[in-house]
Amino acid sequence: MQKYRVAVVGAGAAGLLAAIRAADRGLSVVVIDKMSLPGRKLMITGKGRCNITNAAEIDEFIMQVFPDGRFLYPAFKKFFSYEIIGLLQECGVESVLERGGRYFPKTEKAADVVGALYKRALENGVKFIFNAKVNNVHYNNNEVSGLDYLAGGRSRTIDVSNVIICTGGKSYAATGSSGDGYIFAREAGHKIVNLFPVLVPLETKDMHASDMQGLTLKNINAKVLINGELKHEEFGDLLFTHFGLSGPVILTVSRSVVYALDKREEVEILIDFKPALDFDKLDARLMRDLNENGKKKIGNLFRKLLPQKAIPVFLNILNLDENKLANQISAVERKAIVQLLKNMSFTITRHRGFKEAVITAGGVCLTEINPKTMQSKLKKGLYFAGEVLNLDANTGGYNLQIAFSTGWLAADSI
Ligand SMILES: Cc1cc2nc3c(=O)[nH]c(=O)nc-3n(C[C@H](O)[C@H](O)[C@H](O)COP(=O)(O)OP(=O)(O)OC[C@H]3O[C@@H](n4cnc5c(N)ncnc54)[C@H](O)[C@@H]3O)c2cc1C
Repeated sequence: MQKYRVAVVGAGAAGLLAAIRAADRGLSVVVIDKMSLPGRKLMITGKGRCNITNAAEIDEFIMQVFPDGRFLYPAFKKFFSYEIIGLLQECGVESVLERGGRYFPKTEKAADVVGALYKRALENGVKFIFNAKVNNVHYNNNEVSGLDYLAGGRSRTIDVSNVIICTGGKSYAATGSSGDGYIFAREAGHKIVNLFPVLVPLETKDMHASDMQGLTLKNINAKVLINGELKHEEFGDLLFTHFGLSGPVILTVSRSVVYALDKREEVEILIDFKPALDFDKLDARLMRDLNENGKKKIGNLFRKLLPQKAIPVFLNILNLDENKLANQISAVERKAIVQLLKNMSFTITRHRGFKEAVITAGGVCLTEINPKTMQSKLKKGLYFAGEVLNLDANTGGYNLQIAFSTGWLAADSI
């Protein structure tokens, strides 16, 4: 039986960084993954472009992390955005900075990031075992002594004194992350903080969203009302889909929505199509347009205000005939148009679940993990890194950096 100093479970973002660091330090490392290739989830990040990290400084960065980003200080002090950008550069992958401090590979290919990290690990002498599902971690007197995995229908055992669990969350299970890490953690005596999907699209009750499916609105404002009270407000891009609402702004507000739906509270999202103009300014503009184009049909005039796909929906909700002339629009109808532009309301019925959630919130309870090492406080030689931990963040490259930094720190601490 071959012996290793370190076994990394999972060849995702956290696992690859953990393997690279452990091997850099001269430790013998095996990475075991149940998929046939490394970084299956990494490959689909940023719509295949991979938003690697964010340019925010540490204090700003941790504000984007839930439930408490301060846990990450030691990990970020050791290995932060500069380090991952630098490491990728050493491996031949240049990065570019985009809107919102988001870093992407210059080639815009997530596959280049995965390829570079995998190659670096191989060059460092890391051994990879694919199509192998880890089933158990073994302990002897509360110390890691080995693990077993199933490959090719046979169970095999590895003697190892350090195991880094980098199994990810339980969203997008087809990429390999189906929640096994939580089982290992529970078996070791760890508490798992309530798991729920975040950064997740939302289903609406009414058909207006599906009537506009495929339409993207840039830089709109979305307000979340819970039981009629304003709870969250964000600016960004929105996508209408066949089931409801998606796009960055919806993913960002989805956290408060998921909580509320869980508590069976009423959730409404108000979309402001014209966030740059307040109600009165928009009303004045519309009044001017109606006056200047009195003989034009309202259906045609709407083209100046709205994307084509939204026009029939607006006419329908407002109960307006598209052939009605602008000079026949009453003051009440004009106010209703402005009201709809500023506050189009969608009743939210459900979220799309783990299957479509970018991130799993909840996870291995942080109070039982040493933030300076990522080692379990319950079992010697057991480490956790990445999404399996009770840490998650907004979109913007923050989640991958959490995985890279915690994976690196775990391996650095062995
Ligand atoms: C569609 C989508 C887009 C995203 N885009 C971005 C983005 O642009 N930027 C960003 O920062 N974040 C993004 N994320 C989030 C980011 O991908 C994750 O936070 C990150 O991949 C977590 O890394 P991880 O190493 O913890 O887990 P993962 O990358 O999920 O890796 C876990 C690995 O463990 C393996 N595994 C699980 N169980 C076992 C087992 N029992 N035995 C063996 N192997 C096992 C899996 O096969 C998998 O390879 C995105 C997520 C999704 C779903």
